[in-house]
This record gives sequence, structure tokens and C-alpha cells, in this order.
Amino acid sequence: MDDLIKSLDDNQLAAEIRQVAEQEKNQLVDFLCLLSEVNRRNLHLQKGYSSLFNYCRDQFNLSEGSIYRRIQVARSLEVFPFLIDYLRDGSLNLTTASLAVPYLRVESGETLILSLLGKSKRQVEQLLADGKKQTAKAMPSGAAGHIPCCQQDSDDHADNKVPLSPKERGLFKSVSSEEVELSLLGDPVIENLLNRARELLVPSCPDGAASDVLAIALQYWLDHHDPKRQKVDTLAEFQLNEISRYVPRKLKDKLLYKSGYQCTWVSPEGHRCEETWGLEIDHILPWSQGGRTREDNLQVLCRAHNQYKFFAEKNVSADKVAT
Ligand SMILES: [Zn+2]
Repeated sequence: MDDLIKSLDDNQLAAEIRQVAEQEKNQLVDFLCLLSEVNRRNLHLQKGYSSLFNYCRDQFNLSEGSIYRRIQVARSLEVFPFLIDYLRDGSLNLTTASLAVPYLRVESGETLILSLLGKSKRQVEQLLADGKKQTAKAMPSGAAGHIPCCQQDSDDHADNKVPLSPKERGLFKSVSSEEVELSLLGDPVIENLLNRARELLVPSCPDGAASDVLAIALQYWLDHHDPKRQKVDTLAEFQLNEISRYVPRKLKDKLLYKSGYQCTWVSPEGHRCEETWGLEIDHILPWSQGGRTREDNLQVLCRAHNQYKFFAEKNVSADKVAT
């Protein structure tokens, strides 16, 4: 390939790279259309992913920013199909489209897009910010700042626009292999609590290091509240009332422990959902269909898969599921 490229004369090289760029642009639009359909069908849930973001990250090995922009635009194509034409003819690029999507409204979306064509990213950001200020001024008190827009990705975060996992949203910054830096912003109550704990912990922590005090406090709390540390207790016998839909706390803890604190949804291809947050207990055979509250009829699912299963059982359109 390298030799072939080197053999091209200047005009051929210019023509070739133009052609490849055109193909790349069309492939991107095709990808967005396909992703829109994946989202509409909630195919990512069936394939064992709790969100479209996790599906794209795993399947396509794209950067988080690239995934965000693609999802943002793909999810808007059903409501604003005119975006496809502007993206395909090159007058609108993915970055501009993803910036504009949160501001699009059904009645004025295309007018807004037309005003952004040919503008740089900075110009687009400025125009959108100016429009937001004007909208806020025109809104009644209390409603300012809320601009209706199309559906948002539940994984999205308003400021950095890149969905982050709970772990990535953490407060910790690695300083070395043995140390992390912890940043906290709190009110004076936290300061008072920390200082009082310091006083009481003088025998254990003579120098009163905040990290030591926090570690002791957290250890104490977790010893009393973390289900993982109570596994012996949670695996004990408990009273079951099969005629109640309510799942006893200890049974919940047992099911969570057995699941490894991870969603148990497995796709037909064998991919298990990796979600560990917002886990819920689901009746495998729904309660409404005679399913009882017994261990063998209960499973741990993330919220997205619990909803997906619920709507599938109700035979409701998959696009009702918000993930
Ligand atoms: Zn799941």
C-alpha cells in the first residue's frame, strides 16, 4: 500500500485522499443511522450492555468523546432526520451536530442548524450560549436555564459531555503506586465532624491525619452496613412469605452476594452485563403472572435490563426503555 501511495503523482494523490475522505464521511453517516436503529430497538440491552455507551465502548473501541458525539447525534436522528442530509453533504460535521442537538426543538430545529452551517466549533458554542441566555431571559422566573431538547443519554453529564463511569467520577487522583490524593468540597459541618473524630481518635491517630481518621470512620461504617462484610449473616436462614411481592432485605443481600454484585443478564451470545450500579431484584416469572417470591424465582438485574425485561413482558415498544 505504501508503495502504491508513493507511486501516485500529486494530482492522483489529491484525488485519492478526497475520495477516501468522502467515503469516510458517508461511512460515519451510515454508522449514525445504524446506531440510531440499535438505540430504537434497544439492541444493546439484548446484547448484554446496560447502556448504549458501554455497548459502543466495548464493540467499537472508540474514545469516550467519539462515542458521546455519535450517541448524541444518533439518538436525535429519528426526531430530526434532516440532520442526515446536512451530515452527508458535509455542510454539518459531527462535532457541530452534537453541540447543537441539546438545543434543537421540533418547530425550530432545522432553522437553528442552518444558522450553524459553516461555523467553527468556537463560533457554534458562542451562538448556542447566546441563544441559551436569550431563552433564559424570556422564560418565567424559576424556569430559566431549562431548555427543552431531545432525549438525553442517561450516561451523559452536562458539563464535560463525556459519560464517565462511577469509578471515573471518583474523587481520587493517583499520586504514586502507594498514594492517592483525595479532593473534597464540603460545608463546615464536615470540618466539625472531622475535628470531633480527631479528638476521639487521639489514642489511635496521635497525629490526627485526616486520611487516617477517614479510614477508621469508613471502616467502622462499612463493618456495620456493607452487605459484603455480612455474608455469613446474610446467608443465614430467613423467613419467606411467598404470598408477598416484597423481597426481604436478607434475601436481597443473599442474591446480591451470589451475583457478585453484578447484573446477571446474559445475551444469547453469552455476554454478561457488567453493570454493578443500581442493581434491582427481579421476579423471573413476574409476580403478575403467578411468580412467587422465592429464591429460585428471583434474579439480580441492573435497572436498564429490569426495565427492558418488563417492557418485553408487557409487549411494549422497546423505545419506551430509557437507557
Ligand atoms: Zn444489566
